Order: sequence, then structure tokens, then C-alpha cells
Amino acid sequence: MTISNYTSTVLGYPRIGPRRELKRALESYWDGSLDVGQLHATARSLRRQTWTQLRDLGLDLLPSNTFSYYDQVLDTAVLLDLIPDRHRVGDDLASYFAMARGTKEVAPLPMTKWFDTNYHYIVPEIGAATTVKLNAAKVLGELAEARELGLETRPVLVGPVTFLLLSDPSPGSAPGFTPLDRLDDVLAIYAELLALLAAEGVGWVQLDEPSLVTDLSDRELAAVTQAYSFLGGLPTRPQLLVASYFGSLGEALPALASTAIDAVAVDLVRGTTDSLDLLAGKTIVAGVVSGRDVWRTDLARASETLRGLGSDVIVSTSCSLLHVPYDVDAESNLDPALASRLAFARQKVAEVVALARGEVTALRAEDAARAGAAAREGVTREGVASEGVASERVAREGAARERVAAAGEGFAPAGPASEPVREWVPRKAERRSPYTTRAAAQAAHLNLPVLPVTTIGSFPQTGDLRAVRAGAVAGRVNEQQYEAAIEDEIAKVIRLQEELGLDVLVHGEPERNDMVQYFAERLEGFATTQHGWVQSYGSRCTRPPIMHGDVSRPVPMTVRWARYAQSRTSKPVKGMLTGPVTIVAWSFKRADITLAESVWQVAQALRDEVRDLEDAGISIIQVDEPALRELLPLRRSAQAAYLDWAVEAYRHTTSGAADRTQIHTHLCYSDAGTVFAAIDALDADVTTIESARSHGRILGGAAEFERGLGPGVYDIHSPRVPTLDEVTASVAAAAKVIPRERLWVNPDCGLKTRTYPQVEASLKHLVTAARAARDQKDQ
Ligand code: GLN
Ligand code: ZN
Repeated sequence: MTISNYTSTVLGYPRIGPRRELKRALESYWDGSLDVGQLHATARSLRRQTWTQLRDLGLDLLPSNTFSYYDQVLDTAVLLDLIPDRHRVGDDLASYFAMARGTKEVAPLPMTKWFDTNYHYIVPEIGAATTVKLNAAKVLGELAEARELGLETRPVLVGPVTFLLLSDPSPGSAPGFTPLDRLDDVLAIYAELLALLAAEGVGWVQLDEPSLVTDLSDRELAAVTQAYSFLGGLPTRPQLLVASYFGSLGEALPALASTAIDAVAVDLVRGTTDSLDLLAGKTIVAGVVSGRDVWRTDLARASETLRGLGSDVIVSTSCSLLHVPYDVDAESNLDPALASRLAFARQKVAEVVALARGEVTALRAEDAARAGAAAREGVTREGVASEGVASERVAREGAARERVAAAGEGFAPAGPASEPVREWVPRKAERRSPYTTRAAAQAAHLNLPVLPVTTIGSFPQTGDLRAVRAGAVAGRVNEQQYEAAIEDEIAKVIRLQEELGLDVLVHGEPERNDMVQYFAERLEGFATTQHGWVQSYGSRCTRPPIMHGDVSRPVPMTVRWARYAQSRTSKPVKGMLTGPVTIVAWSFKRADITLAESVWQVAQALRDEVRDLEDAGISIIQVDEPALRELLPLRRSAQAAYLDWAVEAYRHTTSGAADRTQIHTHLCYSDAGTVFAAIDALDADVTTIESARSHGRILGGAAEFERGLGPGVYDIHSPRVPTLDEVTASVAAAAKVIPRERLWVNPDCGLKTRTYPQVEASLKHLVTAARAARDQKDQ
């Protein structure tokens, strides 16, 4: 029975390949083992696969130009021919990868996080006099490719306002210049493209404007009005869909409503339907299926939302599906009860289609049948009734909750425990003594030189290491063999650091496939997937664990390897933990409890781990929080409350440590300006932080920072080895702002994606530069 009939679409789709085919092709191309023809062939086949799958699932309107060899913001820079001269190193593809990854001679463009996701985009560069010109090859190419399959598509582009707001002024720009100053010129190129696409017979174009859900200044709002009055008013153009996502449009809504664009996509998962009546006369592309989580949609509720929106509605996802994995059905190891609650990209498309066709009950009946089959299979495979497993889990979760509630410090539940979503009120967790007292105790205990050299934690993950870990998972490598291999690797990494002359060592994290998954596999309340890869940047993907129940720590997680590493050297070895905010940020989150409570539960488990590391004789413990900035709410009004509980969770994790135990933290791409006060409030004894790729921007706020600080002086996101001169200059620049007694010398981030030759050469430069800087002062 069909109740309603809407058109269906999605704002975008994953592109790395269901088995990461694009990752493999790119990396082989970069290392020279795949030629350009083969690279293009892989890309073409992935695009075809996506379009035919979307068509076969019954989706009405298909997007195109959502494929990318690296990043859609970089693609937009190329569309506008914004390739800095220093990156014009060959043909278009060579220049493209030079901007993304750098070359031996030239550093890449900076990279930073896409709004509050763990996806990273390349920051384009534009100056007052940079020429912009249309380079539509990619957009037209994908259009033509889809047409070969008989499919009409809607090209997707990053919109002009978001593009300019995310861009940096070219180096050497006059102080007052902002990229938005170039709006007129950029709009002229978009107009030219729209005319071209209209001439090609394209019906719809999607312009992504996620910046419109953030706080906009008057000038920025005026730019929105200007951009879309102009583009909407063009005489020859396709229909225009302006896509907002990751929140509500707020003040940008009336601005868009006042223009002649044809459709607006709104995120109805994280945003609301408030004021949508302002869009009367335009099509609402209703994002009722989440593109950010992995839970099945409450279809009845979504139908109701749709019904409230009137008739000119297209059913869609809340944002691109780029941020979720491909297909739940590819997972064979998930608890069937959990699997039946999940939807990845393919399932979400099916939900969009079912909602559009009014076939909600049919889809759910299918699900129920599938869940039933899976559960029966679970019984035979595991020899246990799945109900038994579930009730056991509920009992464990209850215990975890009680423990959190009973703890004398930290958060206390503010509402009745039976409420599904509860607020948590932070209480103050403090180290025993203030920083100066701790610093003295640590100096006496650790006896480090000034400008100590350290690394962030991981060392290169070699093919051998991956093979051993995979072998252990598959049962080919037994426990003894596995432990011996990891010990060997740790011993090797310790020896290398001693040879290179580092002062504070790490064990290298060889036992960790990923800094979050490793912990998720050891904590109750998380599930991990086999194929649930999500693009993080370029060819890099992560497999976010799924947080589905209350968290507890059955046994210590890192102590065994930390103890072994420390036994191999007389220098201090850092114990290495991922922080509570980051574990949750890089997992798929629960929808039934607040983010604050989720993070708090993890903090509780990590606090116990800190105590166990101390008991094992570890005197420096690093708790990484690279995602602190990432969860920051996009609207300023909500930021302070978030930072309060996030900081509190971190302090709860670390505040049990003795004075002489040095707590380090590490943050990457933290755009530290906005969160500097919060980083300070973490009260870590030493903070290491990204900086090499943002040209030392971080140093701006460093002067007020009162504890140890290690601004990264080696950009590990690029294969390039920094020269000794470059490292020396970075150390000198940092020493101008940060007192030498508190300055550390370290890379930007972990070394796991680099090769040993790159790492050895680079670290040599770090040690040499640090020693020279020490001597200078001593003379
Ligand atoms: N300790 C981690 C590592 O070195 C930190 C990684 C990160 O900040 N992303 O790999
Ligand atoms: Zn990092």
C-alpha cells in the first residue's frame, strides 16, 4: 500500500571502494607499481559500481562528481584552477597530488578536519590577484560516464561560500585580505560552469554549503545572499539545490529563502524543521536518514516528519554517506542482535527509497525476517541463545552504570536513571598538586635535558607487522608467536630510539591496528567491524568501532607491552592511551544516551588503566586527545558546555596520577586557537601538538600556555623528510615563544604511516637540531 510518493536521492556516497579498491590503487600508483591508465580504470569501475547500485536500489536522483582521487575541496580548487605555481609540477594529476601530498621539493597544502567529522580536506589557497578560471573536465567527465550507463545525474560541487570560507589567503597576502574578497570572481566561474551544464542538458546541480550551519558574521551572511541571488538569477542554468548539513541553517535560512534557487537540502537529524515554512515555493530535500551514524532509521518517525513538510519534498540523507561504511551485509562477525539495529550506506539508501515510496512496513518486515535468520544462525554458530547473551550484557551494563553513579567524583546523573537521555553534571577532578609542584617532582624523578626530544607514539607499521597481526586474528599465528613478534618489534624500536638519541621513548604501538579500535576491542560496550572502513584523508581510512552499550574494562589493556618496553631501556618510556573524547569521537556514537555520558563512561575505564600503568612502574603517561576539537559544536552557543564536560572527562582520566608521574597529551589538527583555553584546562604536564603543516600558526597562543609544550616540527602527514635547516628554524621559532625549560621537540603526530628510512632521517634532524639549540644556550 502506497501512502505517499516522494522522489528519493542521497547527497553523496562513499568512494574509497567496498574493499578499499581506490586506496590500494592510489598507493600503488604513488609507489610506481601501477600506471595511470590502471588508476583511472579502477576509479571508473568504482563510479560505475556506485551508480548502478544506487539505480538498482531504486533511488530516483543520482549524484555525480562525488568521486574523488583525494578530496572534494581540492577538486573544487582544481575546478577553479586554483593551483599554486609551486605545485604546478607536471600534468594536472601530478599537480593535484603535489597539492595533496607534497613532493620532495615542495610541501603540500595544509589539511584540516571537515566540520565536526573525522574527514580531512585540503585547504585551498587564494590571493587578491590569483587568476581563477574554469576547469570543468572532472565534472563533465563524470557526467558523460554516467550517461554511458544511460543515467542522468546531478553534479555535486562545494558551493562558493563554503569554498571561500574554508580557503586560506595565499602566503604573502596583505593583512586585510580574506578569500571572501574574491567572491565576485569565483561566482563568475560558477556561473560559467552552470551555463555549460545547462547547455549539456543537466537538470539539477547540487552546491554543498555546510558552512551555512555555522555562526556567520553579517558579512558572511551577505555573501550567502549575494551568491545565491546571483546564481539563482542566472538566465540559463540547471535547477539549483543548495545543500546544508551537520546542523540547522539558522540565519542562513531566510537568506537562502530570499533567493531564486530551486531547492534547499536540510539536515533533519541534527537540525530541526523550525522555520522551514520560509522555504515555501522551493523544494525541500529532507535529510531524514542520518549520514553520520550507523543506526537504522526510525522510519515511522521519519515518515511523520516528511508528512509535516508539505508536498514539495524530496527524501534524502542528512549529508553525504561518505561518513559511513558501505554495507552491513558484508559483516559476518557481528552479534546478530546488534547487526539487526545497524544500517550502513547501502541500507540507508534502501531506507530513503522505502520512505519515498511509502514502503516502510515492507522494508521493516524484510529486516525482521533477516534478523530472525541471523539470530537462528547465531544460535547454531555460537551454540548459545542470543537472548542469553543479550541479558548477560544488560546485567553487565547495569553494573557499569551503578559504578559511574556511585563514584564520588566526576559526573552524577541529574535525572532519574530510567530516562533514556540523561544530562550529566561535571564535578571537579584535580591532580593532587598544582603544576609547579608536579613539575619539580617530575624533574627530580625523570632527569631530562632541556628541549627533550620525543615522538608521539607509533612507529612505522611494516608489512611484516600487519601480516603478524592479521595472522593472529586468523589463527595462523599462535599466541606465543604473536607475543614474540610484538616483543621483537618493541625491542627494535627502543634500540633505534636509543641509537638516534631520543630522550623520552615510546614502545611504537606495534600491537595496535588503530589507536581507537585497539581500545574498543578491549572494552565492553563496543563492537568492531571487518569491512566498515570510512575515508579519513586521501587514501587513508579508519574503521570506527560501534559504541552500542555501557562501557567497562574487564582487564588492563596496555600494561603488558608498556612494562616490556620499559624493561628494555633505562630511559623513560611513555605509556600510551587514547583519551575518552577521542575514543568516542572516532567511534559511531550511541543515540540513546548523551555524548557526555558516553565519554564519561570511557573516562572511567581509562582512569583505572592510568593507575595500572603507574603501578607497573611507568613514569610518563600520554593520553592522546587529537579529537578534542572535532567534537566541538559548530555553533558557538553550545561550545562552552561541551568543552566543560570534555575537559572534565580528561581530568577524570588523568587526575589519579601521582605528582611525579608526568602526564602528556597530544592533539593534532586542533586549530588550537579556538580551544587553547580548554587545552590549558586539561592540565596535562606536557602537550604535543600539530603545527608543522599550519606554518606554526599554533605558536600564536603558546605564549600564555604555562606548562610543557611541544609544537610539532616535522610534518609526518607528508612523505617528505624535513631538512635540518627547516627543523632548526622551527625549533628556533618555537623557542622564541615558549621558555626553553618547557619546550619539547617532537614530530606532529604518530609515525605509523611513514617508512623507516623517512623516520630515521627525520628524527636525526630533530635530535641534531635540539642538541644544537641546547648548546647555543649553554655557551
Ligand atoms: N599515539 C598516537 C600515534 O602516535 C597518536 C596518533 C594521533 O594523534 N592521531 O599514532
Ligand atoms: Zn596526532
